[in-house]
Amino acid sequence: MDITVFLGAPGSGKGTQAKLLVESLKFLHLSTGDVLRNAIAANSPLGREAKSFMDRGELVPDRTMIGLLVDTLHQLPSVNGVVLDGFPRTQPQAEALDTEPSAKVSKAVYFEVPQRDLIARLTGRRICKNCGESFHEVLLPPKIAGRCDKCSGELIQRPDDSDAVVQRRLEIFFEQNDKLVEHYERTNRLIRLDALGSVDVIHQTLSRLLQS
Ligand code: AMP
Repeated sequence: MDITVFLGAPGSGKGTQAKLLVESLKFLHLSTGDVLRNAIAANSPLGREAKSFMDRGELVPDRTMIGLLVDTLHQLPSVNGVVLDGFPRTQPQAEALDTEPSAKVSKAVYFEVPQRDLIARLTGRRICKNCGESFHEVLLPPKIAGRCDKCSGELIQRPDDSDAVVQRRLEIFFEQNDKLVEHYERTNRLIRLDALGSVDVIHQTLSRLLQS
């Protein structure tokens, strides 16, 4: 299975771009954050374990995440390609993914956004309580305030997008990121993407990069 990994800080637009690629290139989007949020909603043992870490903006331990990812990959239908959004987040996760026989990471796209822009992007983010679609109060407002364009569900702030938790999530990202970038750079798989422009322009650039 051919995998493209999306690296980048929370709020760098990885999820938004992954969803657009699902429509245009028929990729499958696998977000470990979404898998964990679904587990929390279902109150499963995984959800109960993950919640305490997620509420504080901490990472769920590697052992749990690696097991979860391998299980999820084995259950996927055969597809054009998979965009992995939110995994790996640590060097051990990247190494585990490279040794997984059913997966081949051919590219790692690093969404680069200056640190000062990330806080505004995260705290302005709103998601649909019903279908999970993502909006932004300023950058990607819904057509009707407070309502999802797709299903009219109520838009809410993710609990971990609050000011205090956002600080911790960014701190952790910057602690781990250099090693991850280096991991994919060393093996000639890294693509740097300026992720500060409009959603449409970034989508076009990304589609070109992934098809070349
Ligand atoms: P995200 O939706 O990708 O921002 O992820 C939300 C939260 O889920 C993160 O802040 C972590 O607590 C947890 N999480 C998601 N993916 C991972 C991962 N690969 N490793 C550890 N924790 C993760």
